[in-house]
Amino acid sequence: MDISILTKNLKQILEQTQIINNIHAALSITNKIEDVSSIIMSALISKHGLDFSRSFLFLYNPKTECLEGKYALGPSTEEEAKEFFEEQNIEEKYLNGLLENINGKDTKDNIISNITDTLYSNLRSSAVWIDSLQKHGLENELTNQISKHCFPVTVKKKGKKNFLTQVLEQKQCIKIDVIKNKNLFPKDLLKIFDKTIAAVILKTKKGIKAIIVVDRKFSSRDIDLIDIKNLEWFGIHSALAIENAELFNDLENAYKELKEVEKLKTNFISIISHELRTPLTSILGFVELISKEKVGSLNDQQKELLQRVSKNTFHLVHMVNDLIQLAELEAEGLMEIKLTPIDPLSCFMGILPKLEQRRKTRRVDVEVNFKEPPPKIISDERTLEKILYHLLDNAIKFSPEHEKVIIHFDRDDKKLVITVEDHGIGIPKEKLRKIFDSFYQVDSSLSRSYEGLGVGLSIIRLLLSSSNGEIDVHSEVGVGSKFIIKYPIAE
Ligand code: ADP
Repeated sequence: MDISILTKNLKQILEQTQIINNIHAALSITNKIEDVSSIIMSALISKHGLDFSRSFLFLYNPKTECLEGKYALGPSTEEEAKEFFEEQNIEEKYLNGLLENINGKDTKDNIISNITDTLYSNLRSSAVWIDSLQKHGLENELTNQISKHCFPVTVKKKGKKNFLTQVLEQKQCIKIDVIKNKNLFPKDLLKIFDKTIAAVILKTKKGIKAIIVVDRKFSSRDIDLIDIKNLEWFGIHSALAIENAELFNDLENAYKELKEVEKLKTNFISIISHELRTPLTSILGFVELISKEKVGSLNDQQKELLQRVSKNTFHLVHMVNDLIQLAELEAEGLMEIKLTPIDPLSCFMGILPKLEQRRKTRRVDVEVNFKEPPPKIISDERTLEKILYHLLDNAIKFSPEHEKVIIHFDRDDKKLVITVEDHGIGIPKEKLRKIFDSFYQVDSSLSRSYEGLGVGLSIIRLLLSSSNGEIDVHSEVGVGSKFIIKYPIAE
């Protein structure tokens, strides 16, 4: 074969590959459905894309079962066409000038110059695409003209066939001779389209999405076999891009709904808890009044029963307070926080009396262990008290009777490591990630033997994130658990 023909063919193949690459790159830059449509439309008419004159998108509407004229891009009159192509040429010239200035005029044979040539031609093509879309947009005269049209995809009656049902029947990219098939087109579309059009279906797993129609009006080039092949592949890739964008859209919507449900749950908990707290406080007040015999004397049995009422009501108040705190933390984070140097050991000593009741009923000992007195840490005192209380309360609750719970204070470089260790039931490895989620309990059956709401650890997680601390957990079923928190040491 003649070397010049070979070079020409090779050049054509390279150009073709370049176009494919450009279109691939363009289609993958966005996940928004509207943007994907814009890119599809401009890639079809760009000089560095498929180089048609105009592109038309007929979008499938599943409600009406119609293909509706949605967008069109390109010139609608001879004058506009001139202007449109001139704009593209100016853009090209400008970018070519830029290229020559950068490369230097007589370094064309240089390999590096060739590489930069390729790089800049990539830049140039995407610039022209964006440029044509920005200047002409999808809101234009052509779009107005096609957006009045709606073509049913199922043709029940004979004679109702149209050019889009023709495309659907062929199930592939086709070229239609408009003049010979006048009867398939509404009159005003006959005026718009060139003598020949090509069309391809965009189909995803969910079914038909759209039909793309292109022509080469105002151009000397005809639509040939290579164009049809190009359009065929372009249809497949555009459909994939639409499918991805739709999936992304679905995912985004599902995420928004999830967030909405989460917000509703938080609001619901907050309202219920506040409503519960008022009557509970008044019950406690009356119980105290009766217990102190302000409304009459009580026998021993009545006193004991009242004590039980009081204990259970306190427990309820405690749970309601936890719920309110969780709802507040989830809604607005920790508001009033003072990060100052605090003594962790005195914090721990301060909460011991609150743990006494649980400790006594389970007959569990709490021991403290350190090699050197723990240094002060930077945190918030009330927050650390709450965290230590929850961790120790859990450790005692999930320990068998007569076991030991140990709290260790160790220094690790600039951090103080506080470990709450128990030898209780332990937590299965696959559940460790979930225990910090609100309302999660490893044993969530109604017959479970440990009381609680499953909110303690989620409160701890939220408190720690706003009070300078971090948490880790190691656990083994039947052996025990270690909850490790770390705080920066005050210098
Ligand atoms: P609650 O203790 O009120 O159920 P938490 O949020 O404090 O809620 O804990 C969530 C779950 O994590 C508990 O229900 C329990 O299954 C598990 N868990 C927490 N601490 C321990 C522990 N020290 N030993 C064993 N399991 C634990």
